[in-house]
Amino acid sequence: AQLLDVRLEYLQRRMQESGMSEEASYDHVLTSDYAVLLAEELGRNAVVNDEMAFNIYPSPPHPNPSSLPLRPPVVTIMGHVDHGKTTLLDTLRSASVAKGEAGGITQHIGAFSVPVPSNRNSSGSRSITFLDTPGHAAFSAMRARGAGVTDIIVLVVAADDGIMPQTREVINLIKKDSGNVGVLVAINKVDKPGLDAESVKKALLAEGIQLEDFGGDVPSVEVSGLTGQGLPQLVETLSAIAEMQDLRAEQDGPVHGHILESKMVKGLGPVATVLVLRGCLKPGSHIISGVTSAKVRVITDSTGKSVKLASPGMAVTVSGWKTLPNAGNEVLQGSESDIKKAVANRQRKADLDSSLADVEAINAARRQERERREAELQQANDSQRNHVEESEAGPKELRLVIKADVSGSAEAAVGALQGVGNHIATTKIVSSGVGDVTESDITMAKTVGGMIVAFSVNVPKSIELMAARNNVQICSSSIIYRLMEAVKEHVIKLLPVII
Ligand code: GDP
Repeated sequence: AQLLDVRLEYLQRRMQESGMSEEASYDHVLTSDYAVLLAEELGRNAVVNDEMAFNIYPSPPHPNPSSLPLRPPVVTIMGHVDHGKTTLLDTLRSASVAKGEAGGITQHIGAFSVPVPSNRNSSGSRSITFLDTPGHAAFSAMRARGAGVTDIIVLVVAADDGIMPQTREVINLIKKDSGNVGVLVAINKVDKPGLDAESVKKALLAEGIQLEDFGGDVPSVEVSGLTGQGLPQLVETLSAIAEMQDLRAEQDGPVHGHILESKMVKGLGPVATVLVLRGCLKPGSHIISGVTSAKVRVITDSTGKSVKLASPGMAVTVSGWKTLPNAGNEVLQGSESDIKKAVANRQRKADLDSSLADVEAINAARRQERERREAELQQANDSQRNHVEESEAGPKELRLVIKADVSGSAEAAVGALQGVGNHIATTKIVSSGVGDVTESDITMAKTVGGMIVAFSVNVPKSIELMAARNNVQICSSSIIYRLMEAVKEHVIKLLPVII
């Protein structure tokens, strides 16, 4: 009732009216099909999330975030081309390795961690994770999904070039995300002689970036990625911003993260960089991303060192994937069997979607071919008026006989199954009614050459046998979206495979 924004008594009354008297008791757990029906009755569009059933979903926000352990900030460096982003990242990366283990080799994994010197007498973060994904492809993909994985954006502006088109793009992005993401301006290339960093700052102010120097809240640092000048201040300032943001995440509980990049590695197979947002990733964990999954084998950090644990804010490479996961995709942890089921479920959906996409492509090709033929005909007969006959007599039909347990659900099934498909093949509902599947339903389905959809009703064994003898298919489920998918599959079978 809360979700639907109605009073409980009202909801119960509506349920009783719809024949759900038993379900209307206050402690009854509704099945998804009834929940969908109810939501639709109340004018809502319900989305059934199967993955909830497999426990494969990000856990809800922690009720008391300030009790959680701190995590390092995730920082993205952005700015106009040639303003020195790559150089800056390279210098930061090699500095991080030099300070780390002797003999460490920097590995390009899409992110790296820079330690924050502990001379600051504070509880600020002790390291910073820099994202360094090529072309920010993964970053854009994650953003497009509304996944704000970046805590701080460093806007790099070359002092000798000033504000350029891509600088403005980043500024717009910052303005859109304002409140969710911290900002630091890095005026770069200050090693060059005769530069005026002040004028760049004024130009930024004119673009609406409220710099601290002018009384705003956006800090700026003057740096040189080439000489390393100003980089300690950059790291220091990022740490201070992170401290204000008070970034915390649960370290226990299932892992939630994102793929930054992935590639095949000799001897290891598919390897992906995972940015961990919540939970701790360990060897042996079962994780899913898109339609692939992994039992985590080896975890390494950006210096190539093997680690036993990756906590929130860390980006690490993970081997053990069945196939290459896609950059930007979400990573979730679950039990081995839940992950297996979720992968199968996602694969089935992906197959359905790609069949539909194939159909769209075929349609487009057929349309084009028809248009080409029509144009040819027209040209050949342009002296006389020529009528081109439609080559098809309407779409192919999957005829459905629907039976449901109550009239509300029959209506819902009709609503859900009507018009599934496209202009080449679609559903047509021949009849819909309440009650178990009967002999006359089979006769009707046979007569029209259709199939029976049984929604939350019994299909007696004798009826099943009769249907089989008569070559009439019965699709039976108490879950409406299962029926929708089954019907979709049948519609797809009606489509021509080749043009
Ligand atoms: P990106 O396109 O933003 O990644 O820029 P790059 O890092 O590739 O740098 C573009 C050019 O600017 C290269 O020729 C760099 O050597 C040069 N460059 C980058 N940072 C600095 C800097 O701090 N000082 C100077 N003088 N040149 C720089």
